[in-house]
Amino acid sequence: MKRYLLAPGPTTIPPEVLLKMAEPILHHRNPLFEEVVAEVRENLKYLFGTKNEVLIFASSGTGAMEGAITNMLSPGDKAICVRSGKFGERWGNICKAYGVEAINIELPWGDDLDPGLVEKTIKANPGVKGVYMQATETSTGVMFPVKQVADIVKNYPDILMVVDGITGVGVFPLPMDEWKIDILVSGSQKALMLPPGLAMAGVSDKAWGFNKTAKCPRFYFNWAKELANLEKNQTNFTPAISLISGLRESLRIIKAEGLENVYKRIEKLAYATREGAKALGLKIFAKTPSPAVTAIYAPEGIDGQAIYKTLWKKYGVTGAGGQDQLKGKAFRIATLGYADEYDVITAIAALEFTLRDLGYKFEMGKGVARAVACLAEK
Ligand SMILES: *Cc1c(COP(=O)(O)O)cnc(C)c1O
Repeated sequence: MKRYLLAPGPTTIPPEVLLKMAEPILHHRNPLFEEVVAEVRENLKYLFGTKNEVLIFASSGTGAMEGAITNMLSPGDKAICVRSGKFGERWGNICKAYGVEAINIELPWGDDLDPGLVEKTIKANPGVKGVYMQATETSTGVMFPVKQVADIVKNYPDILMVVDGITGVGVFPLPMDEWKIDILVSGSQKALMLPPGLAMAGVSDKAWGFNKTAKCPRFYFNWAKELANLEKNQTNFTPAISLISGLRESLRIIKAEGLENVYKRIEKLAYATREGAKALGLKIFAKTPSPAVTAIYAPEGIDGQAIYKTLWKKYGVTGAGGQDQLKGKAFRIATLGYADEYDVITAIAALEFTLRDLGYKFEMGKGVARAVACLAEK
C-alpha cells in the first residue's frame, strides 16, 4: 500500500533531505562539520526573522520548551501560560516540575485568545516574568494571535514573550525581531521536513538578560553554554550530526522557495482542506484555524477515531486523531512542511471513501471538487 503522511508531525521528508542524512557521518569537531553549522546558523536566522543566534539541541521540541523555562526563570517565579489544548498544558506542566508558579489563562479548546485577556492577567499578577503560549495549538488546530500578544508584552521590560512555534515556524510569519518575540521554539519533525530529534530556540537580547539571573536547575539544556559553542560553529555535546546535515538541506529548500511563498502555499492548502471538508457537510473545530493543521469534527453518530483509523488502515493516509477531550470527536489533517496540492486532494478523496464506508450520507465527489476549485483559485 502506498502511504501518505499528513500528520502534524512527523511530516514527509523530501528525498534530497533523506539522501543527505544517508551520507557518511562527519566528525563534529571537524572543519567540514563546522561549515555545515555555519550555514545552518545563517539560514535559521532567516527562518526565525532574527539577527540573534538560534540554538540547536538534540531533543524533541519539548526539550527547547523546557529550556525556555529553566534558562529564564527561578523557582518561585510566576509565568502566564495560555492553556487551551495539549501543548498549552505542557507549558504549565514544565513550570510545575521546576517550582515555577503557572498562572493559566484557561480557554475552552478551539476558542480564540483575546489578547486583552493577557494584558488583564499581567495587571492582576504583578511580578509575572513571562507569557508562554503556542503559535498553533496543534491539538485543536487553533492559530493564536502572537503579534497582538507580543505588542502588549513588549511594553513590559520585566516580562518575556515566549512562543512555542513548533507548528508555526515555517508555516506562517513569526518574525522574532520585528514582533519582539523573546523566545521562539521550533522542532525538526514539523515544517522543517526532518525526522524527529532536533529542537531549536531563537533567543532575544532581552531574554539573554533574564538568563543572567535565572536560577532554575539545568544541565543538558544550558543555553549560555550552547551559545558560546554555537558562536564557534560547535555544540556543547555531541550534536545529532546527520539531522543537522539534513537541516542544512531543508533550509536550502525553504530558502529557494522563499519564505513568503512557503507561507502562501501552506495557507492555500489549508484553505482547500477546510473548504473540501465543509463541502461534505463537516465542521471545522477551530474558530481561528491554523494553516498548519485542520481539526475537523466527526459527523453526528460517527466516531472520529474510526475515521482516523480507516483513513490510515484502508486508504494509507496517516492524519491524526483527536487528543484527550477531542478523542473520538474530531480528526486532523496537516498541511505543513513538504505538502502540495495532491496531498490535499488525496486526503479529501480518502476522507470521502472513509465516510462512505462508515455510513455517512453525502454526495460523493463534492469535497474533492470543492478542494480542486480552491486550489485553482489565484
Ligand atoms: C509537536 C509539538 C510539540 C513538541 O512535541 P515533541 O514531541 O516534544 O516534539 C510542542 N508544541 C507543539 C505546538 C507541537 O505541535
